[in-house]
Amino acid sequence: MSYIKTLKKRGISVSRINIIMLISAFLISAVLFWAMGRTSILYDETHRLTRNLLTWRKDAYELQVASDYLTEQVRCFAVTGERQYLDNYFREAEVTRRRENALQTLQIEHTESEAITDLRDAMTQSENLMLKEYYAMRLAVEGYGYDLNEYPEVIQRVELSEEDIALKPEEQVYRASDYLFDDNYLLAKLRISNDMNSCLEILENEMNSKQNAVAAALKQQVAVEHVLTVILIGIMLAIVIVISRLVFKPLKKCVEIIRKEEEVPLKGAYEIRFLAKNYNLMYYTTKETENKLNFDANHDKLTGLFNRRGYDFFLNNVDMETSTLMIIDLDKFKSINDNYGHDTGDKAITKAAKIILNSFRSQDYVCRIGGDEFAVIMIRSDPSMKDLITRKVNMINEKLGKLDEDGVPAFSCSVGVAFGRVGLRTSELFKRADTALYNAKENGRNGVAFYSKNLVEKAD
Ligand code: GH3
Ligand code: MG
Repeated sequence: MSYIKTLKKRGISVSRINIIMLISAFLISAVLFWAMGRTSILYDETHRLTRNLLTWRKDAYELQVASDYLTEQVRCFAVTGERQYLDNYFREAEVTRRRENALQTLQIEHTESEAITDLRDAMTQSENLMLKEYYAMRLAVEGYGYDLNEYPEVIQRVELSEEDIALKPEEQVYRASDYLFDDNYLLAKLRISNDMNSCLEILENEMNSKQNAVAAALKQQVAVEHVLTVILIGIMLAIVIVISRLVFKPLKKCVEIIRKEEEVPLKGAYEIRFLAKNYNLMYYTTKETENKLNFDANHDKLTGLFNRRGYDFFLNNVDMETSTLMIIDLDKFKSINDNYGHDTGDKAITKAAKIILNSFRSQDYVCRIGGDEFAVIMIRSDPSMKDLITRKVNMINEKLGKLDEDGVPAFSCSVGVAFGRVGLRTSELFKRADTALYNAKENGRNGVAFYSKNLVEKAD
């Protein structure tokens, strides 16, 4: 139960799809092989039955023709007395033996049919009729006055009735023909022929029904193969769609997203999602490290403000023509270090950084550009903000002037301000702010000076 739950949670996996594909391929191949084998058996059977039917038609024809041939030859001999007919008769009866050969073939191919026994009986009757024909031949030989020794033994062995011996030669010839044309002979001949025909008809019906059964089975088998083919195509399409949706598409998407350096969505087969999850993890770790490195490169470790590098970046990328640059320098800072130690000096720098940062808008850039020197870039500002800036500086100094619990003494800062102007280069802007700062220091520190042409230039 818990295994099924785990599976549901994990979803379909590539190895599972693989197993399903292998099993499907094996089953489909087995079913197709079976269907193909069965179709070929049915085809062979149809072929065999068709061949049998053709042989049967030939044999049935031979039986009929040979039988009629014998009658015809014996009658011709009796009527004409020509030896050639008699020879034809015996060649057919003893050498060619078309009837016997046809019967033998039929017996081999239809052993199980009862019709064959009836056919054999009809043949026996036919052979009996031949005795009557021998008798007629013997009588004809007698009537024509031929030498009996020149005729086949079967004729020599025939014993004529006393009544027939007593007849005149022409009467004997006439009687011989009569035996072969009288009602008895015709009836016997007709009976044999009918028996043979009905047997052959039964055989034909048996063969036809077998052929129909096999044809129906073959038709059904073809329908089964069609259905199997449709199922096979369906399964193949399903496999292609499943693989495309669970493997190929998500893989393609992953590659596109990884190229864009974005987070990969957790979609597709279990293995693909597993890879995506791990990639995302690595992606975030790398991103974080990168951010940290960027942060470290642009920020000051002690105060967390932007460092000199960050400041340079802003000077080059912010629209300084509409911004104001302020340089803030802590007053007499060396003495703090000297009197209170470097650690307290650090704390004072941190305190000043915090106060300065909190005194400006969040969109302004506050940077530490030297030991006790800060810069503030006030974006979108102009000389109309002079008072505001003065108030801000006073407030900063007020806060710096308060004693701290952690031993930071009161101190102050001096600020030099220069306003950006269209066409004014940043280097010039900095120079102006620095000049203003110099003036603020000169004016007794703890205050702000705005650049103007009247200010005293700083001597380098
Ligand atoms: P002024 O009013 O003219 O600016 O006098 P000042 O003593 O502040 O002179 P200046 O600005 O030239 O000296 C800055 C001093 O700040 C020098 C150095 O001892 C100190 N300083 C610089 N960086 C640090 C730092 O990271 N920590 C500490 N504690 N002191 C620093
Ligand atoms: Mg200083």
